[in-house]
Amino acid sequence: MIMHSYISDKVKVVTSSVDRRGVFALKLIKKGEVISVYGGHIITQKEYNNLAKSCFRHIHDYAIKVADGFYLVSSKGGRLEDDDFFNHSCDPNVGIKGHLLMVAIRDILPKEELTYDYAMTDAAMDYAFKCNCQASNCRKVVSGSDWKKPAIQRKYKGFFSWFVQDKIDRSKSSRRK
Ligand SMILES: [Zn+2]
Repeated sequence: MIMHSYISDKVKVVTSSVDRRGVFALKLIKKGEVISVYGGHIITQKEYNNLAKSCFRHIHDYAIKVADGFYLVSSKGGRLEDDDFFNHSCDPNVGIKGHLLMVAIRDILPKEELTYDYAMTDAAMDYAFKCNCQASNCRKVVSGSDWKKPAIQRKYKGFFSWFVQDKIDRSKSSRRK
């Protein structure tokens, strides 16, 4: 099968219960290492809306917004790839560089789950869910507007996708005027 994304051979997708899949480390991953490079198809807002309505109801779980009006999906038909199974955590060990790269924020030990914070990639996405990530700093509710919180902006400086960082920069400069 031709994969559209790169994912490190130091990680593996593991199914831990019926609906719970995650990406886990097989070996030590050093801080700064590239874990995944997203690839796939770029779709427009209209295509996104159509997919959400038809064959691919959970598209918001698998699409990454790369700019207003544009999303990256691993397939247009609903087939998922390994990079679609990174779960959210409020205390993540993986961050985003650019709009395509996932890198380790710190050293990650074998058997640890690799997680990122959805606030790193999601802005102007209309969702909210109860978080059960077990982190001591868990926000309890994670939503598509968490990137607006100053504490989140400070915590993940340098690890937001370009699109989200751009929104943060713009909101700050409009506040200064
Ligand atoms: Zn949480």
